[in-house]
Amino acid sequence: MSTVLVVEDEAHLAVGLRFNLENAGYAVRLVDNGEDALSQVEGADLVLLDVNLPGGQDGFEIAREIRKAHNIVPIIMLSARNQKEDRIRGLDAGADDYLTKPFDLEELLARLRGHLRRQVWHRRDGDDESEASEASATTLEFDGCRIDFRSLEAIDHRGEGFQLSWKEAMMMRLFLENEGEVIPRARFLEEVWGEPGTLETRTVDNFIMRLRRYFEPDPKKPRHILSVRGVGYRFVR
Ligand code: CA
Repeated sequence: MSTVLVVEDEAHLAVGLRFNLENAGYAVRLVDNGEDALSQVEGADLVLLDVNLPGGQDGFEIAREIRKAHNIVPIIMLSARNQKEDRIRGLDAGADDYLTKPFDLEELLARLRGHLRRQVWHRRDGDDESEASEASATTLEFDGCRIDFRSLEAIDHRGEGFQLSWKEAMMMRLFLENEGEVIPRARFLEEVWGEPGTLETRTVDNFIMRLRRYFEPDPKKPRHILSVRGVGYRFVR
Protein backbone atom coordinates (compact mmCIF):
# COMPACT_ATOMS: atom_id res chain seq x y z
CA MET A 1 0.00 0.00 0.00
CA SER A 2 1.34 3.42 -0.93
CA THR A 3 1.44 6.10 1.74
CA VAL A 4 0.40 9.65 0.85
CA LEU A 5 1.41 12.53 3.09
CA VAL A 6 -1.26 15.24 2.91
CA VAL A 7 -0.12 18.70 4.03
CA GLU A 8 -3.24 20.83 4.21
CA ASP A 9 -4.44 23.28 6.84
CA GLU A 10 -8.02 23.69 5.64
CA ALA A 11 -9.72 21.08 7.81
CA HIS A 12 -12.69 20.28 5.58
CA LEU A 13 -10.48 19.80 2.55
CA ALA A 14 -7.95 17.74 4.52
CA VAL A 15 -10.62 15.42 5.89
CA GLY A 16 -12.20 15.07 2.45
CA LEU A 17 -8.83 14.20 0.92
CA ARG A 18 -8.13 11.61 3.60
CA PHE A 19 -11.53 10.01 3.08
CA ASN A 20 -11.15 9.84 -0.69
CA LEU A 21 -7.54 8.68 -0.67
CA GLU A 22 -8.27 5.94 1.86
CA ASN A 23 -11.22 4.91 -0.26
CA ALA A 24 -8.87 4.66 -3.25
CA GLY A 25 -6.62 2.30 -1.28
CA TYR A 26 -3.90 4.58 0.04
CA ALA A 27 -2.60 4.96 3.56
CA VAL A 28 -2.80 8.61 4.55
CA ARG A 29 -0.74 10.76 6.90
CA LEU A 30 -2.40 14.09 7.57
CA VAL A 31 -0.57 17.17 8.84
CA ASP A 32 -1.59 20.85 8.81
CA ASN A 33 1.75 22.68 8.90
CA GLY A 34 5.20 22.67 7.37
CA GLU A 35 7.10 21.59 10.45
CA ASP A 36 5.05 18.41 10.82
CA ALA A 37 5.32 17.84 7.07
CA LEU A 38 9.10 17.69 7.32
CA SER A 39 9.03 15.33 10.30
CA GLN A 40 6.48 13.02 8.63
CA VAL A 41 7.80 12.90 5.07
CA GLU A 42 10.25 10.05 5.58
CA GLY A 43 8.81 6.87 4.11
CA ALA A 44 5.91 8.57 2.35
CA ASP A 45 5.48 7.52 -1.31
CA LEU A 46 3.95 10.81 -2.42
CA VAL A 47 3.28 14.25 -0.92
CA LEU A 48 0.24 16.45 -1.54
CA LEU A 49 1.47 19.84 -0.48
CA ASP A 50 -0.67 22.94 0.01
CA VAL A 51 1.09 26.19 -0.93
CA ASN A 52 -0.47 28.48 1.70
CA LEU A 53 0.33 27.09 5.13
CA PRO A 54 0.19 28.66 8.57
CA GLY A 55 3.44 29.40 10.34
CA GLY A 56 6.67 30.58 8.84
CA GLN A 57 7.12 28.25 5.87
CA ASP A 58 4.98 28.02 2.77
CA GLY A 59 4.68 25.03 0.48
CA PHE A 60 7.48 26.24 -1.80
CA GLU A 61 9.90 26.27 1.12
CA ILE A 62 8.76 22.87 2.33
CA ALA A 63 9.31 21.40 -1.15
CA ARG A 64 12.80 22.90 -1.18
CA GLU A 65 13.58 21.48 2.27
CA ILE A 66 12.41 18.02 1.21
CA ARG A 67 14.68 18.12 -1.85
CA LYS A 68 17.56 19.52 0.15
CA ALA A 69 17.37 16.39 2.28
CA HIS A 70 17.81 14.39 -0.96
CA ASN A 71 14.34 12.94 -0.74
CA ILE A 72 13.04 12.18 -4.25
CA VAL A 73 9.43 11.50 -3.22
CA PRO A 74 6.98 12.86 -5.84
CA ILE A 75 5.43 16.15 -4.69
CA ILE A 76 2.14 17.49 -6.04
CA MET A 77 1.50 21.07 -4.97
CA LEU A 78 -2.04 22.24 -4.28
CA SER A 79 -2.84 25.90 -4.56
CA ALA A 80 -5.72 28.31 -4.86
CA ARG A 81 -3.51 30.44 -7.03
CA ASN A 82 -3.39 29.88 -10.73
CA GLN A 83 -0.59 32.16 -11.72
CA LYS A 84 1.88 30.75 -14.17
CA GLU A 85 4.59 32.30 -12.04
CA ASP A 86 3.51 30.23 -9.01
CA ARG A 87 3.40 27.11 -11.05
CA ILE A 88 6.95 27.67 -12.21
CA ARG A 89 8.02 28.56 -8.66
CA GLY A 90 6.56 25.30 -7.43
CA LEU A 91 8.31 23.24 -10.06
CA ASP A 92 11.57 25.10 -9.52
CA ALA A 93 11.28 24.39 -5.80
CA GLY A 94 11.37 20.70 -6.65
CA ALA A 95 7.68 19.83 -6.98
CA ASP A 96 6.72 17.38 -9.71
CA ASP A 97 3.24 18.63 -10.38
CA TYR A 98 0.85 21.45 -9.56
CA LEU A 99 -2.91 21.37 -9.13
CA THR A 100 -5.14 24.42 -8.75
CA LYS A 101 -7.97 24.39 -6.21
CA PRO A 102 -10.74 23.55 -6.59
CA PHE A 103 -9.52 20.43 -8.36
CA ASP A 104 -11.40 17.45 -9.66
CA LEU A 105 -10.96 14.37 -7.47
CA GLU A 106 -10.66 12.04 -10.45
CA GLU A 107 -7.95 14.20 -11.93
CA LEU A 108 -6.05 14.26 -8.65
CA LEU A 109 -6.24 10.46 -8.37
CA ALA A 110 -5.15 10.04 -12.00
CA ARG A 111 -2.11 12.26 -11.50
CA LEU A 112 -1.30 10.53 -8.24
CA ARG A 113 -1.37 7.14 -9.95
CA GLY A 114 0.79 8.53 -12.75
CA HIS A 115 3.47 9.80 -10.40
CA LEU A 116 3.52 6.60 -8.38
CA ARG A 117 3.77 4.57 -11.58
CA ARG A 118 6.66 6.65 -12.89
CA GLN A 119 8.40 6.24 -9.58
CA VAL A 120 8.03 2.48 -9.82
CA TRP A 121 9.04 2.55 -13.49
CA HIS A 122 12.12 4.48 -12.57
CA ARG A 123 13.08 2.17 -9.71
CA ARG A 124 12.73 -0.85 -11.95
CA ASP A 125 14.98 0.89 -14.40
CA GLY A 126 12.63 1.53 -17.20
CA ASP A 127 11.06 -1.50 -18.66
CA ASP A 128 8.74 0.77 -20.55
CA GLU A 129 8.12 -0.53 -24.07
CA SER A 130 9.07 2.63 -25.88
CA GLU A 131 12.42 2.77 -24.17
CA ALA A 132 13.18 -0.88 -23.65
CA SER A 133 16.00 -0.96 -26.14
CA GLU A 134 17.81 2.06 -24.77
CA ALA A 135 17.08 1.67 -21.10
CA SER A 136 19.65 -1.03 -20.49
CA ALA A 137 22.30 1.30 -19.07
CA THR A 138 21.90 1.62 -15.34
CA THR A 139 24.99 3.72 -14.72
CA LEU A 140 26.79 6.56 -16.40
CA GLU A 141 30.46 7.23 -15.79
CA PHE A 142 32.52 10.09 -17.13
CA ASP A 143 35.55 12.04 -15.99
CA GLY A 144 35.52 10.61 -12.46
CA CYS A 145 31.80 11.27 -12.05
CA ARG A 146 29.26 8.51 -11.70
CA ILE A 147 25.46 8.18 -11.70
CA ASP A 148 23.50 5.12 -10.68
CA PHE A 149 20.07 5.52 -12.27
CA ARG A 150 18.44 2.95 -9.99
CA SER A 151 19.45 4.36 -6.63
CA LEU A 152 19.94 7.96 -7.88
CA GLU A 153 23.27 7.93 -6.06
CA ALA A 154 25.95 9.96 -7.76
CA ILE A 155 29.57 10.98 -7.38
CA ASP A 156 30.37 14.58 -8.22
CA HIS A 157 33.47 16.07 -9.83
CA ARG A 158 35.17 16.29 -6.42
CA GLY A 159 34.65 12.58 -5.87
CA GLU A 160 31.97 13.14 -3.26
CA GLY A 161 28.82 11.04 -3.10
CA PHE A 162 25.37 12.65 -3.12
CA GLN A 163 21.79 11.98 -4.16
CA LEU A 164 20.34 13.28 -7.42
CA SER A 165 16.69 14.29 -7.57
CA TRP A 166 14.50 12.26 -9.83
CA LYS A 167 14.29 14.99 -12.47
CA GLU A 168 18.02 15.65 -12.42
CA ALA A 169 18.60 11.95 -12.98
CA MET A 170 16.06 11.86 -15.81
CA MET A 171 17.86 14.73 -17.51
CA MET A 172 21.18 12.90 -17.29
CA ARG A 173 19.51 9.80 -18.59
CA LEU A 174 18.16 11.67 -21.59
CA PHE A 175 21.70 12.92 -22.21
CA LEU A 176 23.05 9.38 -21.97
CA GLU A 177 20.48 8.01 -24.41
CA ASN A 178 21.35 10.76 -26.90
CA GLU A 179 25.03 11.09 -26.27
CA GLY A 180 26.71 13.63 -28.53
CA GLU A 181 23.43 14.83 -30.03
CA VAL A 182 21.80 18.21 -29.57
CA ILE A 183 18.72 17.98 -27.33
CA PRO A 184 16.32 20.94 -27.67
CA ARG A 185 14.98 22.44 -24.43
CA ALA A 186 11.44 21.54 -25.49
CA ARG A 187 12.41 17.89 -25.56
CA PHE A 188 13.58 18.02 -21.95
CA LEU A 189 10.24 19.57 -20.98
CA GLU A 190 8.39 16.90 -22.86
CA GLU A 191 10.33 13.88 -21.65
CA VAL A 192 11.39 14.88 -18.15
CA TRP A 193 8.44 17.05 -17.13
CA GLY A 194 5.84 15.58 -19.47
CA GLU A 195 4.51 19.09 -20.11
CA PRO A 196 5.56 20.56 -23.42
CA GLY A 197 4.44 24.12 -23.88
CA THR A 198 3.22 24.85 -20.37
CA LEU A 199 6.60 25.56 -18.79
CA GLU A 200 9.22 28.11 -19.60
CA THR A 201 12.49 26.85 -20.99
CA ARG A 202 14.18 28.67 -18.13
CA THR A 203 13.18 25.68 -15.99
CA VAL A 204 15.49 23.51 -18.09
CA ASP A 205 18.30 26.06 -17.87
CA ASN A 206 18.02 26.09 -14.06
CA PHE A 207 18.40 22.33 -13.93
CA ILE A 208 21.35 22.47 -16.32
CA MET A 209 23.06 24.98 -14.00
CA ARG A 210 22.58 22.58 -11.12
CA LEU A 211 23.90 19.60 -13.09
CA ARG A 212 26.97 21.56 -14.10
CA ARG A 213 27.68 22.43 -10.48
CA TYR A 214 27.66 18.72 -9.71
CA PHE A 215 29.57 17.40 -12.67
CA GLU A 216 31.72 20.19 -14.06
CA PRO A 217 34.91 21.30 -12.25
CA ASP A 218 34.39 24.71 -13.85
CA PRO A 219 30.63 25.19 -14.48
CA LYS A 220 31.38 28.35 -16.49
CA LYS A 221 33.53 26.39 -18.91
CA PRO A 222 31.64 23.11 -19.21
CA ARG A 223 33.35 20.16 -20.90
CA HIS A 224 30.53 17.63 -20.75
CA ILE A 225 27.19 19.43 -20.55
CA LEU A 226 27.53 21.81 -23.47
CA SER A 227 25.26 24.65 -24.55
CA VAL A 228 24.14 24.78 -28.14
CA ARG A 229 23.22 28.38 -28.66
CA GLY A 230 19.56 29.03 -29.29
CA VAL A 231 18.65 25.36 -29.30
CA GLY A 232 19.48 23.38 -26.21
CA TYR A 233 22.21 21.18 -24.80
CA ARG A 234 24.54 18.38 -25.78
CA PHE A 235 26.36 15.85 -23.63
CA VAL A 236 29.78 14.43 -24.31
CA ARG A 237 31.80 12.19 -22.01
CA1 CA B 1 -3.92 26.51 3.02
